[in-house]
Amino acid sequence: MLQLYIPLSFLGNMYRVLKQSMTDMDRMFSLLQIDSEIKDIQGASPLTVRRAEVRFEHVSFSYEPQRQILCDLTFTIAAGTTTAVVGHSGSGKSTLVRLLLRFYELDKVGGGRIVIDGQDIRAVTQDSLRAAMGIVPQDSVLFNDTIYHNIIYGRPSAARDEVIAAARHAHIHTFIESLPAGYDTLVGERGLKLSGGEKQRVAIARALLKDPHILIFDEATSALDSRAERSIQQALEQIAHNRTTLIIAHRLSTIIHAQQILVMDQGRIIERGTHHELLAAGSVYAQMWALQHQQHAPTREDERLPLAAD
Ligand code: ATP
Repeated sequence: MLQLYIPLSFLGNMYRVLKQSMTDMDRMFSLLQIDSEIKDIQGASPLTVRRAEVRFEHVSFSYEPQRQILCDLTFTIAAGTTTAVVGHSGSGKSTLVRLLLRFYELDKVGGGRIVIDGQDIRAVTQDSLRAAMGIVPQDSVLFNDTIYHNIIYGRPSAARDEVIAAARHAHIHTFIESLPAGYDTLVGERGLKLSGGEKQRVAIARALLKDPHILIFDEATSALDSRAERSIQQALEQIAHNRTTLIIAHRLSTIIHAQQILVMDQGRIIERGTHHELLAAGSVYAQMWALQHQQHAPTREDERLPLAAD
């Protein structure tokens, strides 16, 4: 039985914090059955996912009047492909994801619309919208429970073999097996503290188990060592393969293979294309790439580092 150790009085605040940070909101929403501030419209029907194509059409958004955060964004994440969003801090990347999750409502007039397989997300039930999406948050908070339960939460009906298969694909199985209590190890605040990279791989395993139509991956900003980095990269490739995926990326090396990269600046898309197209264009993305390359050029040693045999 999953348990929460959160005083009830914090729940209201918790909702706001989660909405902001996107931390395990997936889990929190269903466990706590928190009432979102946004209500389903009368007669809302469940989202019918056919191909899982996501489209932003002329999306503009402000949290407060007078300060526009997103300006007229139009893009499509073709079914089964990966779109990565990059840009400076504050350019609006997370806002875009919060809107896709419908944590905030677009203005009926002038706000544009977000559609999944042709259905405006305002017209479908929020439960069905969230059921279609899996989230790997930047900073996964693990709950005070075993690693096993933290993973199986992705699909509580899963068999043990499936949990282990998901952990293997997420490159965390070997690590888990190396712990004295294995999958029964208690994690979270009161248990074993996992590193950022380990937590994110647990979150990937959970998302793999959920097997959502649409995946949102929020890359951690904190630096990981090259081995952890490559482990996450490989896990991400597994989960994103043939799945409609939106990545908020901080390290450009993560998104070289994305079918589409959007470069954001002050709420606008200022460049778009594949990694190679954007490098050839020699503009903002190319400068970002050059800068990151100088800072994190892989060394010969990095190239030789073996990965854990998951
Ligand atoms: P980072 O890479 O640092 O996470 P980001 O590109 O994801 O940044 P957002 O979090 O989308 O940026 O924020 C875009 C802008 O919106 C920022 O200027 C931020 O201050 C503002 N903002 C974010 N959340 C709110 C809010 N709840 N109320 C008012 N302004 C907000």
